[in-house]
Amino acid sequence: MAPRTRAQRKRAREEEVEEERCRLCLEEDHPLVQPCACRGSAKLAHKRCLDHWRRTSPKEDAAYRCGQCMDHYRDALSLELLSARLQTERTDGEEIIFTLDKLAAELHAQGKWNEAEPLYREALEVSRETLGNRHLSTLACIGNLGLLLQAKGDLAAAEPLHRESLEVRRETLGNRHPDTLAAISNLGTFLQVRGDLAAAEPLCREALVGLRETLGNRHPHTLISIDNFAMVLQDKGDLAAAEPLFHEALEVKRETIGSRHPSTLISINNVGMLLKAKGDLDAAGQLLHEALEVSRKTLGNRHPDTLISINNLASLSNEKGDLAAAELLFHEALELSRETLGNRHKDTLISINNLGMVLDDQGNVDAAEPLLREALEARRETLGSRHPSTLNSISNVGMLLQEKGDLVAAEPLLRETLQGRRETLGNRHKDTLISIENLGRLLQDKGDLVAAGLVLLAN
Ligand SMILES: [Zn+2]
Ligand SMILES: [Zn+2]
Repeated sequence: MAPRTRAQRKRAREEEVEEERCRLCLEEDHPLVQPCACRGSAKLAHKRCLDHWRRTSPKEDAAYRCGQCMDHYRDALSLELLSARLQTERTDGEEIIFTLDKLAAELHAQGKWNEAEPLYREALEVSRETLGNRHLSTLACIGNLGLLLQAKGDLAAAEPLHRESLEVRRETLGNRHPDTLAAISNLGTFLQVRGDLAAAEPLCREALVGLRETLGNRHPHTLISIDNFAMVLQDKGDLAAAEPLFHEALEVKRETIGSRHPSTLISINNVGMLLKAKGDLDAAGQLLHEALEVSRKTLGNRHPDTLISINNLASLSNEKGDLAAAELLFHEALELSRETLGNRHKDTLISINNLGMVLDDQGNVDAAEPLLREALEARRETLGSRHPSTLNSISNVGMLLQEKGDLVAAEPLLRETLQGRRETLGNRHKDTLISIENLGRLLQDKGDLVAAGLVLLAN
């Protein structure tokens, strides 16, 4: 690189200095914080100046989000101010649905799911009673509670809410209204999470086409819908179709809501994990590191999204062969997941399974076995035996038993995996092909060369 001249260096420094001042009092004394997605001269502020504005502004939303970029602050002060407002409204006998919903959404976004749930439920109850079952506000409450219960892993309770929200919106708003399209996307994603890709795909596709047409390609709802559809394609094994969509969503989010927004972090993780699946580990590493670093800073170490980020980076370390780093990260994710999400949440089970796998890879079969079995048992109970994650667990326990030399116990598990993947993913999906190889190798180990040949030939 050519050495910079004095003039260039001076200019660069002046620009930095010019930007580093509080957007409220215009003073330059530190420390300055970056509270939202605003950039340029509005990027930084003193915490004390911003807090004062938030506590005293007459604007309804000043307490919890930036009026310029609409990014939420997602911090303790938002909760404090909204809780106080709710308290006042209750005491004065005022309308509370709006504030209930705002406070619940804030708790939801901050990962405080258990505290959000009773508030969403109350908002829904009051809304049904006072506004009726088909009012827009009631439908929003139904949708929000459905998303929260899904995040918490209570799929059985979430499903009727997703379906009710969609059905009533189709009837009252029509099929092309953005709210209907968002509900279609939500139900599609619910089905994807449940492992029902065949039912998820047409819904996610319908929502995306409709949102592109009605809201345009850069609207936040469209961007979420792009991610959701791409996720289904990725789960189906169609990485080539998923990749441009994940990239598109990430690029536009960086431009419109900035690189620190939680929704952008999800996109960074999505692209990172896709690149990892494609074997581009260096590019994946850059993104997954970025997502985790910003997530720890803006959401905190215990936020569910941060835990997903830790898991993702750990699985990349694993893939790169850095088993010690992977084990450390998986341990951190697992400990925090057990505490904050509980032992049976799908994200906790991912951590349990992954830690088991990395221990197994290091030859520590005795430590790995109880973890892999715990993940399998809980997944059978919470997701059912045909869910892709359960099938992974069945395969993992089967392979571990094979490694231990217990071929009799391993065989039915590997057969069950293959059968399940044929039924749910089809015969050409890469996971199905891996299953065939695994079962073939087991039968070879057993000395049953004829059966092994038949399994491998069927490929
Ligand atoms: Zn200031
Ligand atoms: Zn802002």
